[in-house]
Amino acid sequence: MAEDTQLLPYCQNQLTGLRVHVRALFEAAVQNRPPSAAIVDAVNGNMQKISSAPALCFNESQGFFRQHTHPVTQLVEHAMALIADDAAGLLAGDDADLLAQCQSEPCDRFYLRTHARRRWCSTRCGDRARAARAHARKYHQPEGN
Ligand SMILES: [Zn+2]
Repeated sequence: MAEDTQLLPYCQNQLTGLRVHVRALFEAAVQNRPPSAAIVDAVNGNMQKISSAPALCFNESQGFFRQHTHPVTQLVEHAMALIADDAAGLLAGDDADLLAQCQSEPCDRFYLRTHARRRWCSTRCGDRARAARAHARKYHQPEGN
C-alpha cells in the first residue's frame, strides 16, 4: 500500500470484521465444533471479491477506460481476499490439526503447534506462563506446608 494511502474507517471496519470472522473459524477448529455457516459465507465473500473487475468508464478526452471506483477499497479488498484465502487454506489444509490457541493468559493468539508439547505462541508467552507458575508456587503455598 502506498505510504500516502489513508485507511478509511470503512476499510478499517472491513478488516476488523474479517479478523473477527477468521478468529471465530480458528476457534471452531481448535474446539472441534462446527463453525457458523454465516461466518463461512462471509469469509467466502471476502475471497470472491478478489476477482471484482474495474468499472467501465467513458469521458470525451479518454474515450472508454476502466477504473476501480474506489482505489483504496480495492486495495483493502485485495488484501482481505488474500488473508481469507490463507485462512481457508490453513483450515482445510494438511496443517489444520496443528492449529492451537495460546494457553498463556491474557494472550489470545493462535499458532501452529510445531512440536507436540508446545502450548504457547511465543517464547515470551512461555516465559510469562512459567514466571506466573513460579510466583504462584512461592507466594500461594497451600496451608499446612
Ligand atoms: Zn501467546
